[in-house]
Amino acid sequence: MARTLAPSELENFPSLDWSAIAPRLTPDCRAALEKVLTSLDGSFLSREQCEQLAYAEGDDLLGLLVAANALRAELVGNIVTYVVNRNINFTNICFVGCKFCAFSRGPRESDTYFLSFDQIAEKTREAWALGSTEVCIQGGLPRDLPPFYYRDVLRAVKNAVPQMHIHAFSPMEIVYGVELTGMPLPDYLAMLRDNGLDTLPGTAAEILDDDVRFVLSRNKLSTEQWKEVVRTAHRLGIRSTSTMMYGHLETPTHWVNQLLLLREIQNETGGFTEFVPLGFVHSNTILFHQGLSRSGPSLAEHLKVHALSRVMLAGSINNLQVSWVKLNRKLSQLCLHAGANDYGGTLMEENISREAGATAGQYTSPDDFQALILEAGRIPAERNTTYTRIHLKLHPEEFVAEETFEPEFA
Ligand code: SF4
Repeated sequence: MARTLAPSELENFPSLDWSAIAPRLTPDCRAALEKVLTSLDGSFLSREQCEQLAYAEGDDLLGLLVAANALRAELVGNIVTYVVNRNINFTNICFVGCKFCAFSRGPRESDTYFLSFDQIAEKTREAWALGSTEVCIQGGLPRDLPPFYYRDVLRAVKNAVPQMHIHAFSPMEIVYGVELTGMPLPDYLAMLRDNGLDTLPGTAAEILDDDVRFVLSRNKLSTEQWKEVVRTAHRLGIRSTSTMMYGHLETPTHWVNQLLLLREIQNETGGFTEFVPLGFVHSNTILFHQGLSRSGPSLAEHLKVHALSRVMLAGSINNLQVSWVKLNRKLSQLCLHAGANDYGGTLMEENISREAGATAGQYTSPDDFQALILEAGRIPAERNTTYTRIHLKLHPEEFVAEETFEPEFA
């Protein structure tokens, strides 16, 4: 049986290189990783090999982390990107009742809020003035929402700042909008696109397995509905991110299934801009307090999920984001060595993870992002939402060049 790695071994894995670790791996694990390292393509792995990597422990796990880092360097180089953005969570009133969510409130609770269109427009103007290029808009699902509410949010934002990129509405909100308006899904999405929706967050995915979803949230959209929303959006030219929430009641087999599914959708549509593993923040959630989940991911799980994603998605979804709001500074930097190449958004006003008990804070300034990235030995660069424009602007002391370019891997 493989030994369990000590935290210090996990924290020090970035000092290893592939030639040092490879001879210590089991033959099957080494063969699987070498296949991806030489082809730069995760699709060469069989399902069995993917499972083997997902359950790797001891030296095999160290090998997976090291291989993921090497793959990241080959596929996307040493730049770590981030987007300057603002979260706008327009309401915390929600009837869905996801057990992992500590953000939502019932309509009669004392600390509910609902932003007006004027307030949303004002937040957009403020964000633009502070250098944001994107607003990320999601909220609770209140009953009796006016049928065209989401369309009107888009109009409020674009009227305030026409150039602002709108990254908005989870697939769950899209399904709700379809229900409220009675419009067919493609027509509804096309209407949102024509009113300013630029990209869709691939959230509400959690684990795309209906048995797990039933425990996490009985009222949430099904796996089939999530796939349909995302595929339809991509077909209409609305790109999206892709996500997975890990560290609750799922198993490594669920990770494999989800990554294979995302790869399959990407092969069909090419619409995913990135993959974002989201560590479950357990502290203030019913899921944890009812004993239905573990207490969030371990250090080994955080690193393994990022590395496995890099390896399995290689050649398909090449941008892998570390969600810093859910992790501490050191752990998020370690994930940059386990395959990640993006730090996500600066996120003025991050409410959702904070309510669940995350302590990483609500906002990290672009200067802080640059410092964090440089400290991890990489090159910081601001990007747009779709990674089609990368702006290199190194920290003042390290200043070498300022340059804007269109990367090959977008
Ligand atoms: S995760 Fe979203 S849909 Fe679920 S309860 Fe929270 S706000 Fe509502």
